[in-house]
Amino acid sequence: MTFVIGLSGGIGSGKSTVDAMLEKLGAVLIDADSIVHEVQAPGSPVLSEIAAAFGSGVIDADGALDRAALGDVIFRDPEAREKLGSIVHPPVIGEMVRRLYEARQAGEKLVVLDIPLLFEGKKTGTGAAAVIRFDATVAVWAPEELQIERQISRNGYDREEAERRVRAQLSLDEKCDMADHVIDNSGSLEDTERQVQALVEQFLA
Ligand code: ATP
Repeated sequence: MTFVIGLSGGIGSGKSTVDAMLEKLGAVLIDADSIVHEVQAPGSPVLSEIAAAFGSGVIDADGALDRAALGDVIFRDPEAREKLGSIVHPPVIGEMVRRLYEARQAGEKLVVLDIPLLFEGKKTGTGAAAVIRFDATVAVWAPEELQIERQISRNGYDREEAERRVRAQLSLDEKCDMADHVIDNSGSLEDTERQVQALVEQFLA
């Protein structure tokens, strides 16, 4: 039996940090963000569709996606955001399902799917949550001030940019209300690791 975790949280709340701890405990990680990057690689059909929908201005000189140019369009226009989702989400979800199937076939005990928009999707009945059955959902929590500080020190954003990005998402508290389990990542890494260990023991019991 494979135990399947759906993991999410807020920007900079510590999802990747918890992923790494779960991997150390033997979990197989399926990371939606890295699959997004893979499916829209230069030369891919997904990238051609993006160019057809948004114009060649979103492709850079090397034939790769110009994230900043696309971000400018998407950020201002909700319809464009929806259009992009309709191009990118199906192949990404398909690849996640394929990898989950492989992990089950291989007899893996624990699989974690890191999906940034997991709870947004759960709320609207769309996205991965509409297709994949999770044995447990986990939200990684940190206070907003810490999310902002971590983004400033990691990504070099100024405070205004970091705040805007945090507040553009469904509130982290709301995600935690929807989750089966919450990991409090406001303390030390050791604190977080203890919570992750306890959860894994519970999941595998
Ligand atoms: P994003 O949404 O941007 O992908 P994320 O939720 O995956 O972010 P992480 O990358 O895990 O968040 O953490 C953000 C930053 O905060 C990283 O630089 C990480 O090393 C640091 N960090 C995370 N948890 C802790 C902690 N408990 N103590 C100290 N630093 C931490």
